[in-house]
Amino acid sequence: MLRRRDEIVLGFAGITPKLQFCIGTRGAAGIMVLHEGIVWDILVDFDVIEQRTADGRYRCRLCEPADLFPSREALWTSHCLEPMLAWTNEHFDASRSLLLFGQEGHTTYAQIRQTPDVAVGGPKAGAVYYCPLVQQAGTT
Ligand SMILES: [Zn+2]
Repeated sequence: MLRRRDEIVLGFAGITPKLQFCIGTRGAAGIMVLHEGIVWDILVDFDVIEQRTADGRYRCRLCEPADLFPSREALWTSHCLEPMLAWTNEHFDASRSLLLFGQEGHTTYAQIRQTPDVAVGGPKAGAVYYCPLVQQAGTT
């Protein structure tokens, strides 16, 4: 479960607040779907397990071979923040919606789909919750 005191949790301006970018103290980073107080799904992760090398540079222990960076900031920017921004640029647009499936306490998962696909499967395509990804100003 989400333990907020151990995490940095950030929303995305103009995007449904169901999606949050979370960075944990142990290097787990990803875009989570929060619904009714639980983590419904993790859409994508950008984990970084940082390690300082003998010569004072930084690397990610999950990567082999690992790129070496001159600072923690450079490691996190290159390894987590830039891929996260690339992912959001690819996935966040006004033609897409967030759909949540499953049942709390059982399997839960989320998908981002082109909104026309939702209509093909009915108004909610079997989802328990559905909203446009991009939120209009002044609505919630
Ligand atoms: Zn890595």
